Amino acid sequence: MEIDSDTENDREHEAIEKSIQSMSINVSSSDSLHEALFLVLAYLPVYELVVMSEVCMALREAVSKDVLPWLNIIVQNPLSSRLSDDILIKITSKSNGRLTTLALIKCVNITDDALQRVIQNNPFIHKLYIPGCTGLTPEGITIALEILSQQNHSLNTLHINGIYNITKHHFKTLQSHLKPALHDQKKPFLYHQYRNSPVNKEGDRNIDVEICPRCDEVRLVYDCSRATCYKQMRKVWFKADCKGCLICIARPYCNQHSNLQSSHPGDQGSSTSGFVCQICHAKFITNVDNDDE
Ligand SMILES: [Zn+2]
Ligand SMILES: [Zn+2]
Ligand SMILES: [Zn+2]
Repeated sequence: MEIDSDTENDREHEAIEKSIQSMSINVSSSDSLHEALFLVLAYLPVYELVVMSEVCMALREAVSKDVLPWLNIIVQNPLSSRLSDDILIKITSKSNGRLTTLALIKCVNITDDALQRVIQNNPFIHKLYIPGCTGLTPEGITIALEILSQQNHSLNTLHINGIYNITKHHFKTLQSHLKPALHDQKKPFLYHQYRNSPVNKEGDRNIDVEICPRCDEVRLVYDCSRATCYKQMRKVWFKADCKGCLICIARPYCNQHSNLQSSHPGDQGSSTSGFVCQICHAKFITNVDNDDE
């Protein structure tokens, strides 16, 4: 019995070793790369794309010659601070004018001029994420969107959080150049969701910032994450009192609120160590008889 199992183990080891050998042969001979790998390229940010191009000749060729990997360009750390206007022009030209998504996350060296040139050369762009690109100005972004409008195109999505000096006038002008949001604008904009994935998905709002109902500044304005508040807000969404920017309402909410959100809604007895939304407190904690329907 033991001898049998030993020989079986040996056979297994042999098989594994053979498959490892064949794998390494596959990687070195570029013809036999799985074609799924080439499809993956279209979904990679620029840094990962460059890394992939160093794996083998076939991938290098695909990255440098194919248009597909360059239709959605995402530049984030560690490349953000190294992205210059010239490099941006160069990488966006690889899409042959068919760029659809441009996401520049905190690319501080990009200027209005480069953005406008990219937009001019890529009229089919419909998602523009430029949060924290502090070299850009609201006026420069407005011109970029006007260039797009002149070509009878417009953006579905614009993210500009972190751009300095956006006034209410800028905000309204920028918004007027966007396609109206297709989906439910009443979907709450929640702090933890945004922090986890700032590049949003289909169905979310068309512009990330809005006018804070408390301080009247153009900022990221979060909705209340509390389940009972959400029910209230569905009725009178825009009058929601616990909606506000991070300056006006600190987030995330305290432990007490996160407990209320969790799968243990009755767990209200825990001690609070952090922030309690004043409005929530008045509405739902002090005034326990409040109808939360
Ligand atoms: Zn505010
Ligand atoms: Zn709280
Ligand atoms: Zn609330």
